[in-house]
Amino acid sequence: MVIGAGVIGLGIAWRLAQAGCRVDVYDKGEAGRGASWAAAGMLAAAVETEPGEEPLLPLTLESQRLWPEFARELLAATGISVEYRDEGTLVVALNRDDAETLRHSFDFQKSLGLDIEWLNAAEARRREPHLKPGIAATVFSRNDHQVENRALARALIAACRGAGVNIREHCAVAELVTAGGRACGIETAQGREDAEIVVLAAGAWSREIGGIPAAHQPPVRPIKGQMLAVQMDPKSPLLRHVVWLPRAYLVPRNDGRLIIGATVEERGFDTSLTAGGMLALIEGAWRGVPTIEELPIAETWVGFRPGSRDDAPMLGPSGIEGLVVATGHHRNGILLTPVSAAVISDYILRGKLSDTAKPFAPQRFSQPRSASLVEAAK
Ligand SMILES: Cc1cc2nc3c(=O)[nH]c(=O)nc-3n(C[C@H](O)[C@H](O)[C@H](O)COP(=O)(O)OP(=O)(O)OC[C@H]3O[C@@H](n4cnc5c(N)ncnc54)[C@H](O)[C@@H]3O)c2cc1C
Repeated sequence: MVIGAGVIGLGIAWRLAQAGCRVDVYDKGEAGRGASWAAAGMLAAAVETEPGEEPLLPLTLESQRLWPEFARELLAATGISVEYRDEGTLVVALNRDDAETLRHSFDFQKSLGLDIEWLNAAEARRREPHLKPGIAATVFSRNDHQVENRALARALIAACRGAGVNIREHCAVAELVTAGGRACGIETAQGREDAEIVVLAAGAWSREIGGIPAAHQPPVRPIKGQMLAVQMDPKSPLLRHVVWLPRAYLVPRNDGRLIIGATVEERGFDTSLTAGGMLALIEGAWRGVPTIEELPIAETWVGFRPGSRDDAPMLGPSGIEGLVVATGHHRNGILLTPVSAAVISDYILRGKLSDTAKPFAPQRFSQPRSASLVEAAK
């Protein structure tokens, strides 16, 4: 049984059903309408890696490697394309200050062996003529691709149903049921359901499920992101690559929408769109691609990234027998969908956590605080 029908819960459910398990997925709302719907769909293992995030890299690179086959498999199973696009990502510095910062990230990412390339301004504008004249420098990351995350959610829902998964929408899980310290089911408004294994994949809401002692609750919090989309002419889009600017990123979609994201805010589950948030995104995008000025706004929205204490996901045993955790994917959950589905289904079926997933076991947060402080003081 899986709590949460986002891309993480659905991906795991699909893999388990393919292996012959009976799987029920519960969602408090419509399936696939949480962060998975709100995301930009970038599969950016390279350009998003910042100092301190090196431990996450083997996981993000592994998922990036799995993505093309995952997309093909979904298409074959459902007929739904997730619009996997492989033009790559450009990171643009607008002035000399930005170029210094970009050089610093470039040197760091290069030192990790990532396949990125420094381009001069003329070369960048040859690839993307709508970039403003006079940009300072650009980095090209050929392996940072993108998918249409809403199509991904639709495809996973169809794949799950096709494999026999029972998706129960508008049925919130109120609490985990335990007996003798072991998870054995869940409680919803419609009653109690027994389960051999419960997977907690409720994204930013994962701490709201009752019945889990505080020591075993995943330390997840919502990180609000405001986004908007402007409408390009799909026959002559302004951009082909994903473009990162100093204060916004732009993601062109096949249907002509150009996604502009995203704010990063600690405001709990506040769903409001703010003038300041929209201003920052539009201005940030306009500074690099001034021609967006002419484009109609197609949509605005808010989503909640499931943030964890170290910005890395929690994958594996919760500390309560029978309860497995798959949450905290923060800004990488679309990228990490294939690998999360693989490692969690594998753990449930074989009882072993893969080496790639071991550093992300939820128990890393249950170390006594004093012990980690002693470590830090050494
Ligand atoms: C603005 C924004 C931009 C992003 N851009 C990217 C990007 O470009 N690339 C990338 O890789 N990632 C991106 N992300 C992150 C990515 O969207 C998330 O990491 C990912 O979607 C998490 O998936 P999930 O299934 O864990 O969560 P969700 O999709 O939020 O799913 C959790 C589900 O649990 C359900 N639920 C909650 N409580 C209960 C309950 N009590 N009972 C039953 N169901 C419950 C919810 O209704 C929801 O459907 C972005 C996120 C945001 C917000």
